[in-house]
Amino acid sequence: MTATRVLVLNSGSSSLKYQLIDMATHNRLAQGIVERIGEGEVADHTEALRIVSAELAAAGHGLDDPRLAVIGHRAVHGGTRFTEPTLIDDEVVAEMQKLVPLAPLHNPANITGIEVARALRPDLPQVAVFDTAFHATIPEAAARYAIDAATADRFQIRRYGFHGTSHAYVSRATAALLGRAPEEVNVIVLHLGNGASASAVEQGRCVDTSMGLTPLEGLVMGTRSGDVDPAVIFHLARTGGMGIDEIDGLLNKRSGLVGLCGDNDMREIGRRIGEGDASARLAFDVYCHRIRKYVGAFTAVLGEVDAIAFTAGVGENSAAVREASMRGLGALGIELDPVRNALRSTAARVISADDSRVAVAVVPTDEELEIATQAYSLLGGRTS
Ligand code: ADP
Repeated sequence: MTATRVLVLNSGSSSLKYQLIDMATHNRLAQGIVERIGEGEVADHTEALRIVSAELAAAGHGLDDPRLAVIGHRAVHGGTRFTEPTLIDDEVVAEMQKLVPLAPLHNPANITGIEVARALRPDLPQVAVFDTAFHATIPEAAARYAIDAATADRFQIRRYGFHGTSHAYVSRATAALLGRAPEEVNVIVLHLGNGASASAVEQGRCVDTSMGLTPLEGLVMGTRSGDVDPAVIFHLARTGGMGIDEIDGLLNKRSGLVGLCGDNDMREIGRRIGEGDASARLAFDVYCHRIRKYVGAFTAVLGEVDAIAFTAGVGENSAAVREASMRGLGALGIELDPVRNALRSTAARVISADDSRVAVAVVPTDEELEIATQAYSLLGGRTS
């Protein structure tokens, strides 16, 4: 292909992020974000994409540039229907509409972004890359919840998993860091950003993940609870008199780190711990305890683990979280090297001790590059 550029669009409910990537070099030619869509200045997603288009044109990379090969869209929920990067047409958009009940916050924004981009460049191939897709290989034993089967089927209740683009990218990059092929290694990926999830990747295929029907399950997150006993919800409704939307808001927006201590930024929590703040300390401890528990569980799921990879904002930057969550795991063959762990770098790097049976690594994620690569490959483009 002579057109080697991919525009990656990540359309959220109130923001539109973009990156223009040249697949021959992996260079970012342009990137940016339009925020506060629908809150005044930027009326809607059509307006937001017009701004992106103008910014690209001003940088010499207009949307009409013949070197643009494809637009890659981040899509959150693919259900059981979309397990691969998918060339978008009317039928695909209609199928995505049907999945809105599974992701009411995310899929409508994704669809709007897609429709606006298609209206602007109807002739250009556009590809949706789903956050759930990498988890489609999870076996039924791990994907099914043990609830009434007919009810589960009727409402499409199962574990879908999210952050799949990141888990896919990071598990492969971890294998590369170890000088191995993805098919040769078992990796536990810990994606710790505002949202957080763990996955167990066996020889390149995902076999379990911590997020479930929605991105609420699993690890402790910035504002989300992660795992709770579902009976907490009944209790809040029956005893606390709370409505279902109120409980939804509580668990999604006022829980996790922010619920435990009032802050969701790990830097601020670290600073408060330094001052002897007890609630910040507790939030940190709950957060790290949950990670450790999942590492143990996924070690059992995989049988043999070659590497544990920390990624995303907290995973890439917080030596304290890495140290606390890996502490005491010597029996699983996990030994950090404190000096390597403390070293700051933006490069993928091993932070375990030389005699650690399991390699522990920090591997920066790059979801945009992964979306671009998948979209470009679908069109037959070979990436460097
Ligand atoms: P998102 O899920 O929004 O993509 P990121 O992966 O960018 O989030 O992660 C954001 C989080 O990363 C912040 O809330 C903050 O807690 C954490 N973070 C960023 N930089 C640091 C740092 N230097 N030390 C500790 N935590 C950090």
